Amino acid sequence: MIINLDEHWNPRTPTLIGHIDPVGEFPGDIDEASTASGRFHRRVQEVQWQAKHTQVTAGMLVVWERAAWRVIAIEERPDDLWPPRFEAAWGEHHAQWLLAVAAGRSARSVGPEPQRATWFGRPVVIILVSPTQPGGKPTHLVAPASHRWPVLPEHYESCVACGELAPCRHAAANKIADREIAVATVRATFPADACMGCGEAIAGRQKAVAFPGPNLWRPDLPHHARFHARQDCAGWVDSYRRAWESNGGGQQQAQLALDADEEDAA
Ligand SMILES: [Zn+2]
Ligand SMILES: [Zn+2]
Repeated sequence: MIINLDEHWNPRTPTLIGHIDPVGEFPGDIDEASTASGRFHRRVQEVQWQAKHTQVTAGMLVVWERAAWRVIAIEERPDDLWPPRFEAAWGEHHAQWLLAVAAGRSARSVGPEPQRATWFGRPVVIILVSPTQPGGKPTHLVAPASHRWPVLPEHYESCVACGELAPCRHAAANKIADREIAVATVRATFPADACMGCGEAIAGRQKAVAFPGPNLWRPDLPHHARFHARQDCAGWVDSYRRAWESNGGGQQQAQLALDADEEDAA
């Protein structure tokens, strides 16, 4: 299985940044080297950076798909068994280097010819096993050598109910649901003619935004939803508009009405 690199989520337990290849030099900020205090700060940053980076080795715990996994082994994919995606990326990487050489760029900026065996994008197999079932069937994953594996400490937070690392997807969903319930509770107290965003009265002289049709946030009210036409309530207008449009509201009337004039005339 080739790993999915698109997941953006961090466990609550702080992790280290795990490298497949040796960690290498602190990238640093060259500008800072011109003063004594700059050099001092750079050294402090270097120590902090090194404390956060580590090379992944067998026995460590890494994160994959919101779970902790024990690393059994790390193996290079044999040269003739590279998945097509990696072959294509390598071909492109090497072609870029050839182009830079052909364009006559300096040897220093172009660097030495990339080698398959050391290329940062080469496929590396990481063999993992569940830390709670160390005798279980190992999982083989293929990732580019440059993939940064989050490394967990031995003591980490995970959800007893679903086994995911904390915060699990269910806890995150519950948090959103709790907030939605609280919002609905507050909204249920709004007077019938209030702004459906802030819940405060819309004075006769104030401009308002009205959405024709049933009131989606307070279906118990006989009137359509109205909002203050002001910056402070604009976020609610946007979110109501999305709900209103997905409810077919946009077809009822081409544009939402600004009904302040109507109010003024009344
Ligand atoms: Zn859970
Ligand atoms: Zn308002």
